[in-house]
Amino acid sequence: MMIIMHPGASREQINAVIAEIERHKLTSHPIFGVEQTIIGAVGDGHYVLKEEFEALPGVMEVQRISKPYKLASRQFHEQDSVFKLDGFDIGGAEVPIIAGPCSVESRVQILEIAQAVKEAGANALRGGVFKPRTSPYAFQGLGEEGLEYMAEAREKTGLPIVVEVMAVSQIDMMEKYVDVFQLGARNMQNFNLLRAIGETRTPVLFKRGMSATIEEMLMASEYILSGGNTRVILCERGIRTFETATRNTTDINAIPVLKKLTHLPVVIDPSHSTGDSAFVSSIAKAGVAAGADGVIVEVHHDPAHAISDGKQSLTPEAFAKMVKQVRAIAEAVDRRLVNGNS
Ligand code: PEP
Ligand code: MN
Repeated sequence: MMIIMHPGASREQINAVIAEIERHKLTSHPIFGVEQTIIGAVGDGHYVLKEEFEALPGVMEVQRISKPYKLASRQFHEQDSVFKLDGFDIGGAEVPIIAGPCSVESRVQILEIAQAVKEAGANALRGGVFKPRTSPYAFQGLGEEGLEYMAEAREKTGLPIVVEVMAVSQIDMMEKYVDVFQLGARNMQNFNLLRAIGETRTPVLFKRGMSATIEEMLMASEYILSGGNTRVILCERGIRTFETATRNTTDINAIPVLKKLTHLPVVIDPSHSTGDSAFVSSIAKAGVAAGADGVIVEVHHDPAHAISDGKQSLTPEAFAKMVKQVRAIAEAVDRRLVNGNS
């Protein structure tokens, strides 16, 4: 339910509405606009009468949110959400690029790649330290040691860092290091983990599950939003289809569909969605042309010897070329890369 206050509603009237929401065991999510305050009331409120809220002083209108997801919906928040991250905004006119290896493999490796992607125009550095591998015998990541290397790479390049969190038990330790949590495709419906991330105030790059519908994705993001962590960036990373020529199938449709349904920023991951470096640049461009608010891409200085996802990793040179072309596409759709990008 959305409770729209009169433009002149007082703070006391707003507080009284919030108290009433909480009396019904719902959670309140106020948006204090310049002219008007809108208060979201979220939870199992199907039995709560709209009229009861309409009668409260200062209330102009009460609307039920028709979608099953609430805080993620455009109905709740009409304007695009723009999040200020370290050095750039996401969700506005600028299209940031997040780049780096699939996994942090060593100090030397991550420092070298961080420098290379920075020079080629990246705005943030990615690198996994806890890896969700299909085989339990495959490299599982460097853990906290890897985070120390990521932190050093940030210090040297100024790039904020994006790292996947795989378990609730990793959150406290990781929060000290990371600028943005990545929530991986395999954990998209790990509701305990989503709730725990919702308790933090660290922005989240939220990946679509490989067999998740768009509605399931938005419902899952709601677990984070309802905890009060509002900075959720959605990521289309390809879905499972009958097609085997590529690792996954990029659901390009998902980008404009998500932009219509939600105010949250949407980024494209052409690396996991194709699984092949030969197709990454094409799909990065397609994603931005379709309205993506950013790109996350795997880059490795020596893809042939990468411990994970080498086949889909761009070399720094190929990445630099991709950035140039993505810039041209962004401009063609009235967007731009982050200022100062090479
Ligand atoms: C990754 O980013 O390296 C990764 C494992 O991604 P996904 O969760 O989309 O498979
Ligand atoms: Mn990967």
